[in-house]
Amino acid sequence: ASGLELLRNPQYNKGLAFSQRERENHYLLGLLPPAQLTQELQVEKIMNNIRSYSDAIQKYIAIMGLQERNTRLFFRVLIENVEEMLPIVYTPTVGEACQKYGSIFQHPHGLYISLKERSKVLDVLKNWPEKLVSVIVVTDGERILGLGDLGCQGMGIPVGKLALYTAIGGVRDSACLPITLDVGTNNEDLLKDKFYTGLRQKRATGKEYDDFLNEFMWAVKQAYGEKVLVQFEDFANHNAFKLLERYQKTHLVFNDDIQGTSVVILGGILAALKSTGENIRDQTFLFFGAGEAGTGIAELIALEMTKQSNTSFEEAKKNIWMVDSKGLVVKSRLESLQPFKKSFAHEHEECHDLLSAIEALRPTILIGTSGHGSTFTKEVIETMASYNKRPIIMALSNPTSKSECTAEEAYRWSEGRALFASGSPFAPVTLSGKTFIPGQGNNAYIFPGIGHGVVICGAIRMHNDMLLAAAEGLAGQVTQEHLDEGLIYPPFKKIRKVSANISAAVAEKAYELGLATRLPKPKNLLTYAESCMYSPLYRQYR
Ligand code: NAP
Ligand code: MN
Repeated sequence: ASGLELLRNPQYNKGLAFSQRERENHYLLGLLPPAQLTQELQVEKIMNNIRSYSDAIQKYIAIMGLQERNTRLFFRVLIENVEEMLPIVYTPTVGEACQKYGSIFQHPHGLYISLKERSKVLDVLKNWPEKLVSVIVVTDGERILGLGDLGCQGMGIPVGKLALYTAIGGVRDSACLPITLDVGTNNEDLLKDKFYTGLRQKRATGKEYDDFLNEFMWAVKQAYGEKVLVQFEDFANHNAFKLLERYQKTHLVFNDDIQGTSVVILGGILAALKSTGENIRDQTFLFFGAGEAGTGIAELIALEMTKQSNTSFEEAKKNIWMVDSKGLVVKSRLESLQPFKKSFAHEHEECHDLLSAIEALRPTILIGTSGHGSTFTKEVIETMASYNKRPIIMALSNPTSKSECTAEEAYRWSEGRALFASGSPFAPVTLSGKTFIPGQGNNAYIFPGIGHGVVICGAIRMHNDMLLAAAEGLAGQVTQEHLDEGLIYPPFKKIRKVSANISAAVAEKAYELGLATRLPKPKNLLTYAESCMYSPLYRQYR
């Protein structure tokens, strides 16, 4: 092979880190300037560059450009600077990048499958150079983050998410496949944009959509077998629930927006309860916001309650209450409720605002999933703190401006007694000399670990108990020391370690359920999970 091929293949390229011997043996002499850098120095150089850009989108272009040139260096940068890089390769910056995707990229990552390839989807999959694929993240671009329909330009999301599967979870990067299904877009601006990269037509719906998705799902199984994980990402609600339901019995599927969110929040709650020494079945939950996120989280909480006590699923749900835009969700409203809210409608008189619902129900845990900021008012927090020694308060709406309250408000108004976590990050808060560290219920704690977990054990289906195991695995990584600081999520710096523990917990459960195909079962799953994690260190070429 010519030296140029080594330099141009991101899997092999090391840039200035090629040693003198490698340069001599692989026809590289003259193709690089004489200096040699270690990978450590390269990381430092890249970080200096990235930090010199004031614009997040410039940082994004720089880091994704690196992924095009030098895979291992890209992942080493990500792994060693995960806290700093996460908001760049993923939300919020990736959203802006998707909006501008048409004009940003020279070398598009991932695989595009459009309606034009109907009945030829398997052929398209075969064009992807890697034959061993274990995780696919797929989107149809209809609900990209909070930005809505970005059509074909949603590709940044699967690309960014899979970068985290590798950087955090340790899934081998060549086994990751980002896919965008282009079924059209209803975004008028994009349809009119002369640089738009996708099909110029309205979204397919109904049977046309279902058939296309079905062809895709079976082609994936034919191309990559029973054990490939298909993660649905940023589909519109109506399709997201349907797809999960439809394919969970025949495929290994996962939806991070629904399941990942539920798991990370349940994990935080389990950790918080360790701090108060209480059991989940004795809690009263009140959700402010009864949409996809709120009801999804509530379903998983109810399931965990049934595991920890002898109550039935229906009985468990009686401890979970919802407030939506019309007030408390109660039996008398049953007729007019959307189907996913119905099982949370309990016998009670109507309450028209959050505060009166809190006063009536005296919840121990308050969770905000409303998408509306500043709704956990001083009175709301004070009331929660008036009868709870340690009120658990989660303000999950994103971005920061939509957070139901700030970390500072939660701590101040509860006299420092609240156990608080949020969807968007908040800085530590100091009140009368004591510092509190707010946790962030970031899905990145969960999906990479689940992904690596199912891959290492060769799971063929995702079972709810595997999700519960992931939540417990996460909570298990929160120490007394963290709890003393008010932290109900482990520090992000240790994310790889946390992820490995989640992978082991998920794999353990898959073996227990008979869903794991990698036999014999490794003796120590944690050690095994860690040993299988992708390493970004350069290889030596002989
Ligand atoms: P969604 O499906 O639109 O649900 C919003 C819910 O809030 C609906 O039930 C709505 O009531 C209710 N609501 C709206 N305004 C309200 C008000 N003024 N008072 C009371 N209830 C109100 O949205 P979603 O997908 O569930 O997302 C909700 C929020 O959760 C978003 O801000 C998102 O960023 C956040 N989220 C966070 C995470 C995370 O932290 N990991 C993950 C996912 C989502 P109706 O049903 O009556 O319309
Ligand atoms: Mn998402």
